[in-house]
Amino acid sequence: MSNRGYLERSLRAVWHPCTQMKVHERFPLVPVARAEGVWLYDFEGARYLDAISSWWVNLFGHANPRINAAIKAQLDRLEHVILAGFTHEPVIELSERLAALTGNALGHCFYASDGSSAVEIALKMSVHYWRNCGRPEKRRFVSVANGYHGETLGALSVTDIALFRSAYGPLLPEGATVPSPDWRLAQPGESSADCARRAARGLEAHLDANHRQTAAMILEPLVQCAGGMAMHDPEYLRRARALCERYEVHLIADEIAVGCGRTGTFFACEQAGIVPDFLCLSKSLSGGYLPLSTVLTRDSVYQAFYDDDVARGFLHSHSYTGNALACAAALATLAIFAEDRVLDANHAKAERVTERAQAIARHPRVRHFRNTGMIWAFDVETEDPAFARSFFTAALARGLLLRPLGRTVYFMPPYVIADDEAELLVARTFELLDALD
Ligand code: PMP
Repeated sequence: MSNRGYLERSLRAVWHPCTQMKVHERFPLVPVARAEGVWLYDFEGARYLDAISSWWVNLFGHANPRINAAIKAQLDRLEHVILAGFTHEPVIELSERLAALTGNALGHCFYASDGSSAVEIALKMSVHYWRNCGRPEKRRFVSVANGYHGETLGALSVTDIALFRSAYGPLLPEGATVPSPDWRLAQPGESSADCARRAARGLEAHLDANHRQTAAMILEPLVQCAGGMAMHDPEYLRRARALCERYEVHLIADEIAVGCGRTGTFFACEQAGIVPDFLCLSKSLSGGYLPLSTVLTRDSVYQAFYDDDVARGFLHSHSYTGNALACAAALATLAIFAEDRVLDANHAKAERVTERAQAIARHPRVRHFRNTGMIWAFDVETEDPAFARSFFTAALARGLLLRPLGRTVYFMPPYVIADDEAELLVARTFELLDALD
């Protein structure tokens, strides 16, 4: 069947995510027949460089032989089993390995299947913890302006995207937001660390007034991704950690997008030398293969639920919790990190890409070129209100999958991107900027 055949069938039967479906009257869907490494192939031989890792999930390329083999081997042993009352080797091993990556500071893992569910779990666990500790009034959350934590109701209540808030606001519990430490907001003469300290004073003022009712603060460490790849100084995380400590408020690090090496360290929080009370992972945890998420937390939190009383236990379950195939994919992903010394290799790779991208940074249309680990972003000066859509379409015509957030263009490629592929990505993006009206 041709691209067109799949496209028509899809539009008749599938309701696509994050999409006003009517746009597909003018902009076609891209049917993907197969994928390998950083490349997606359609049914007519065209290929697209997946510069956004398929919504930030893929790390070691599509059809990675090592992850494929691990899933196939697991498939012949155990595909899935209920995790209430039962357990299995991949989920035990994955939990042990993740805990070890936190230096065993976060000793327990609770599983779900997607990022939003991990956020729901962290929020619920925090409030339930305080209730179990005799402090039921601590049930509010504070989040950072321009942050994103998912689209289920609890996660949406701590997400600051105006479009979503206005559509679903009446369904959401009330929350508070504090200023973003985004370094683009630095005032003249302020360093990024100064900007972080100023934002932290906003958090301090909020906690000072509201800590008695506040269960937790949630943030995206180092990069607020969906909010436009807004980057901040690790100083903000150090301040937030200290303030949460002082005011007895949990710190939830949402590392769903920035975890698993994306910012240059395995966990973004490592760059600030801090440990949160809850750490959420998903997206690339399974190498981008299967839906899997987890919330890591301290043994002291776990102990507050440990009791003869069922109601003091954590009340949350998903059918596919700790799916064995997804855990096997995650273990294969962690094995690649260790065997290939991925974090070291990425440092060198990121330097080379940043060097090549200097031409983009100096382009007259470009503002605030920025980089953290394996994320690059810049803002484009344009009057086009439909910039994101038109740039996406123009990029596809040049064989690139780029999906701007508003006027921010970013690269978040799989870590296996080769030097010549990165060069092509940079060169074609430069051409796209030059071709803007
Ligand atoms: N938190 C962050 C920081 C995210 O970037 C996302 C997804 N973009 C989520 C939570 C939600 O994850 P999911 O889409 O898997 O529900």
